[in-house]
Amino acid sequence: MKECDSKRILVTGGAGFLGSHLCESLLAQGHEVLCVDNFYTGSKRNIAHLLAEPRFELLRHDVAFPLYVEVDEIYNLACPASPVHYQNDPVQTIKTSVHGALNMLGLAKRLKAPVLQASTSEVYGDPQVHPQKEDYWGHVNPIGQRACYDEGKRCAETLFMDYRRQHRLNVKIARIFNTYGPRMHPNDGRVVSNFIMQALAGQPLTVYGDGSQTRSFCYVDDMIAAFDRLMRTPDGFGGPVNLGNPVEHTMLELAERIIALSRSRSAIVFKPLPSDDPARRRPDIALARAVLQWEPKVGLDEGLECTIDYFRQFVKEGDALAIPPATQERSLHAQAK
Ligand code: NAD
Ligand code: UDP
Ligand code: UDP
Repeated sequence: MKECDSKRILVTGGAGFLGSHLCESLLAQGHEVLCVDNFYTGSKRNIAHLLAEPRFELLRHDVAFPLYVEVDEIYNLACPASPVHYQNDPVQTIKTSVHGALNMLGLAKRLKAPVLQASTSEVYGDPQVHPQKEDYWGHVNPIGQRACYDEGKRCAETLFMDYRRQHRLNVKIARIFNTYGPRMHPNDGRVVSNFIMQALAGQPLTVYGDGSQTRSFCYVDDMIAAFDRLMRTPDGFGGPVNLGNPVEHTMLELAERIIALSRSRSAIVFKPLPSDDPARRRPDIALARAVLQWEPKVGLDEGLECTIDYFRQFVKEGDALAIPPATQERSLHAQAK
C-alpha cells in the first residue's frame, strides 16, 4: 500500500473476539489502528501480539462516554455479545449500545468519517419469518432478559439511520449472525466455546432445551472479509446488510459434531432453555452476495477444527482452566496465505 492510502482507523471493542481479528487485518493492510476498549469482555491477551507494532495504539476507554480523537474511519464493535455477559449488567449493555452509538456517530459527524456499526441478528428477535431478510422488522420481547441487547442494538440502528438521513453521514450497518473462531473467550458462555471447552475437558456438553433450536455459524475470517467489503461500498449504500453463514444446524447436531471433531468421549446433558431463546435463525445473504460480492468460504468442520485447536491451550489433563494465556495464534485465513 502507498503511504498516502494508509488510513488511521478506530476499532471500538478492539480487544474482543471480532475486534482483535479486525485490528490484525487492518494492520496487515498497512493502516494505522486505534483500538479502544474498556476490557469488559475483551482482553489485552487478544492484542498482546500487536502492541509492538508502531502503527497500533491501545486506549482504555468506555464508549458510553464521549471520545475526541482524530481518525479517518470508525468500526463500532464495542458491546458484550454473549447472552451471559450482556445480561450480567443489562443497564451497562444499554448504555454501551445506545450512548456508545451516539458518541461514535457524533465523532464520525465531526470528522466526516464513515462509520460501521456491528449490529446483530438479534434485531430479528425470535423470528417468525425464516430465513431472515433485511426487510423483516423482527419479533422482539421489549421487556425480556434479552431486551437490553436486542433493543439496545435496534436503537443503535435507528440512530445510525437518523444520522444518515439528518446529517448525511456515511454509515454502514452490519447485521452479524453467530460468528465463532479463535479468541472467543473460553468462559464466554456462548454455545461454540461452551461445547468445545466441555468436550476437551471430558465434561458433558450442556444442550439447552431439547437441542432442536437452530443457528447458522460463520467463521471469523469470513466475517472480517465482509466488514472490509462493507466499509468499502460507495457512500450511497449503508445497509443494513445480513452477514453470516446461511448453513443452519440444530444445537444437538452442533454438540455431536464437536464431540466427534475433538475426539471426545463426553456425554450430552439437557438443561432448561433460557427465556426468549430464538427457535430458528438463518440469514438470507442475497443482499451481501449482490452488493459486497461476498459469501462465506469456510465450512463448519474446517472452522471448528481451527477453533478446537485454539481452545486446547486452556485445557490440561481433563481440567478446564479459567485463566487464558497470551494468544499468538494465527487465524485460518492468515495460515492459508
Ligand atoms: P466480545 O465480547 O469478544 O467483544 C466485545 C468487546 O467490546 C470486548 O473487548 C469488550 O471489552 C468491549 N466493550 C464492551 N463494552 C464496552 C464499552 N462500553 N466501551 C468500550 N469497550 C467495550 O464480542 P464479539 O463477539 O467480538 O462481538 C463484537 C461486536 O459484534 C459486538 O458489538 C457484538 O454485539 C457484535 N456481534 C457479534 C456476534 C458474534 O457472533 N460474535 C454476533 C452479532 C453481533
Ligand atoms: N461526540 C464525541 N466525540 C466527538 C464529537 C461528539 O464523543 O468528536 C459525542 C458528543 O459528546 C455527543 C454525541 O457524540 O454526546 C453526539 O454528538 P452530536 O454532535 O451529534 O450531537 P450534540 O453534541 O449536538 O448533542
Ligand atoms: N446453548 C446451548 N448450550 C450452551 C450454550 C448455548 O444449548 O451451553 C444454546 C442457546 O440456548 C441458543 C444457542 O445455543 O439456543 C446459541 O446460543 P449463544 O449463547 O451462543 O448465542 P445466541 O445465538 O443465543 O445469542
